Amino acid sequence: MTTLNNSSKEQKTTLNSEIEKFLLDKGAIKVGFATQETMHSPEGIPSTNLTKIIPDGQSAVCFAFPLDKEKIRAYLRKDLPNGRVDHNKDNFDLYVKIIKISEELVDLLKEKGYNAAQIIPNFDYAGEGQLKPLLSKPQLSLRYLAVRSGLGLFGWSGNVLMKGYGATILFGGIVTNAKLEPTDPLAESESVCNQCKLCTKVCAFRMFSDNETQEVTLGGYQFKYSKRINHCRCLMVCGGFSGLDKTGKWSTWATERHPYPETDDDVMVTFASSVKADTSLHVKGEREGFDRKQFKRDPVLKKVFSGDKKDAGTIFKGVYLTCGNCQIICWGDPELTAENFRILTNSGCTVLDDEGFVDVKSCEEAQKIYDAKFPNGPIITEQHKKVAKFMKRILESE
Ligand code: SF4
Ligand code: SF4
Repeated sequence: MTTLNNSSKEQKTTLNSEIEKFLLDKGAIKVGFATQETMHSPEGIPSTNLTKIIPDGQSAVCFAFPLDKEKIRAYLRKDLPNGRVDHNKDNFDLYVKIIKISEELVDLLKEKGYNAAQIIPNFDYAGEGQLKPLLSKPQLSLRYLAVRSGLGLFGWSGNVLMKGYGATILFGGIVTNAKLEPTDPLAESESVCNQCKLCTKVCAFRMFSDNETQEVTLGGYQFKYSKRINHCRCLMVCGGFSGLDKTGKWSTWATERHPYPETDDDVMVTFASSVKADTSLHVKGEREGFDRKQFKRDPVLKKVFSGDKKDAGTIFKGVYLTCGNCQIICWGDPELTAENFRILTNSGCTVLDDEGFVDVKSCEEAQKIYDAKFPNGPIITEQHKKVAKFMKRILESE
């Protein structure tokens, strides 16, 4: 352990306090700090290295902002016409807010003579090549930063839960070469996860194990959450390529439907046959959503999503939310989470109407409309099977 003399420790905590005040004044609900040491992963787990963001990164700041729970309820209920678009807008507006605040913090640190850069939330993936988004590993994990710096703890789903908010939060963060004082993780006794496992049941293709866990060790502390059965299960559902739940009794907002994939091979074949270019969704009469044009107009967004970050901006602009259920179902209060589960599982199924707009029907009605349009169901070709084998090989080599 490093021993600090009093003056360098004072300098650190003064800068910590200044950063914390800056973020709380902007509306953050909590702020935490980590260092390269506190993020150290003895297993070499990716997405824990601060120098991925800047080569001289020594410390990181992580902070949380809340999503609008009323909009989440309307999204879970599948309210027409604005349930989907309002939550989508709330989510993306909050991302933009976080990105802009992070950039202000970066500027503040640079004015003081430090190097700093923001961790682009959610859309900046590590790795190379066309399958990069498929591998979905962030450059530096905001979830890991959030648990290690004491903002919250993993729930069973692996989302980070905070008291009073559950998982209905988004995180932002920056990395700097300033030496900041790290904050401690929360004690396990402060967890707001009651192991209800409803998060596993709201995942239409069941990505989370019911009983097995996986661990990550960060700077000497071990954290646990449910084992991921296969990330492609989420990519298909959250990506909007399939929305019907395993039970057939409810769907996400995605109108496509594919049979539930039982095995890993089924997952890859379903994935290969379901991926298509356009996952945009529109409901008749819905109000205007997230302003995609602001990427061209807004000088901060133009600056953040330039150079090698350009792809992240493109992905960001093209995302239409259809799921996120494992996060938004969990409000950190057993009764409210159970009510969210009841709302979602009674919300019906989506289907495209004759004009190509999303409509919500009972699942029986939606299935009849879908069957009339696609009497042979999803088509799986030999080419799909070849692509599935190719993708499986690539994913296994990672
Ligand atoms: S829904 Fe939330 S509280 Fe329930 S097990 Fe999942 S993470 Fe824990
Ligand atoms: S976002 Fe949806 S599809 Fe992805 S893991 Fe969560 S519940 Fe499953």
